[in-house]
Amino acid sequence: MSSILEKYNLKQVINASGRMTALGVSTPLPEVVETVNFGINSYFEMKDLVNKTGEYIARLLDVENAVVVSCASAGISQSVAAVIVRGDAYRLENLHAHAHDVPSEIVMPKGHNVNFGAPVGTMVNLGGGKLVEAGWANECSAAQLAAAINPNTAAILYIKSHHCVQKSMLTVADAAEVAKAHDLPLIVDAAAEEDLRLYYQQGADLVIYSGAKAIEGPTSGLVLGKHQYVEWVKQQSMGIGRAMKVGKEGILGLTHAIELYLEREQETGAAMVDKMSAFIDGLNALQGITSRVVWDSAGRDIARAEVNFDANAFGMNAKDAVAKLQNGNPAVYCRAYKANEGTIEFDVRSVSKEELEQILAAMTKLTQE
Ligand SMILES: *Cc1c(COP(=O)(O)O)cnc(C)c1O
Repeated sequence: MSSILEKYNLKQVINASGRMTALGVSTPLPEVVETVNFGINSYFEMKDLVNKTGEYIARLLDVENAVVVSCASAGISQSVAAVIVRGDAYRLENLHAHAHDVPSEIVMPKGHNVNFGAPVGTMVNLGGGKLVEAGWANECSAAQLAAAINPNTAAILYIKSHHCVQKSMLTVADAAEVAKAHDLPLIVDAAAEEDLRLYYQQGADLVIYSGAKAIEGPTSGLVLGKHQYVEWVKQQSMGIGRAMKVGKEGILGLTHAIELYLEREQETGAAMVDKMSAFIDGLNALQGITSRVVWDSAGRDIARAEVNFDANAFGMNAKDAVAKLQNGNPAVYCRAYKANEGTIEFDVRSVSKEELEQILAAMTKLTQE
């Protein structure tokens, strides 16, 4: 397949940044690829495929209902549309044609109004919703969330993500209580999260996952939740959902990937530490570099190699190093959110031992420039 890289003049990429859309997210297991291959080469009664895979996933996860969508962003838009349209045939076909005399505001903690690669608000607008922020940039309590609710509120949206403000933030369970007290649905975007049952169990009506992130499926998304709400999400395939159509291969591939994800032992943080200990020792041997294990800020069981740059001793600062690593061949991508503070991280989940050696070699090469 290296000929494909050559044919289109593409670079070989080492992804040490995590499940990044900008790099292709993840690589599914061979069994999943086989299922994708079967799906793409067959015909189905598509409604039946959607319903039966949804029921299968719902049984696996012990939830009422589920549906495969094209990605988590589509899941957000279709969920918002679902809670506005609520099964109404006219609104389904005329969502954006004009304003409707039904609740359409989506209340969300202000600290959750993030850009995950595209803004959450854009996905809400696509679904016909108007975003209303609750609380402040640095805090949102249950009371502050409740204060933003009015008769035009259609749902509460909670973004469970490392992108969000974490401090002084109400929990999903808190948000579920507020939703229940106001007789509103709670939508949880848990796109990159690893627990496929938790937020449903905590009271969410719709929970959204990205198919290629933790689950390592093909490009796809999962919406699970209460029976009626998921049915309304499915119905959007005759509305805005058509512009975000998921293929038969994605539906079957994700369904299989979910089953394998639940069966297989997840790589633990401790195993990640094992995998990268020699790598970290190697980094620490470089002048101007100190490296150590750090744990995921959102509390997931993910260990990463943090690298601190002493720009004078190393010969360049972290930002320049990030740019040089990306420009190398193979291109090496790390987590660079804090490069301006002199710190980067390597996420080793998608990195082989051999690739770790290549990263160390690339870092060593920087010291020789
Ligand atoms: C990745 C992500 C999304 C988007 O997921 P896609 O499947 O790429 O559309 C949405 N929300 C959060 C919090 C994410 O991390």
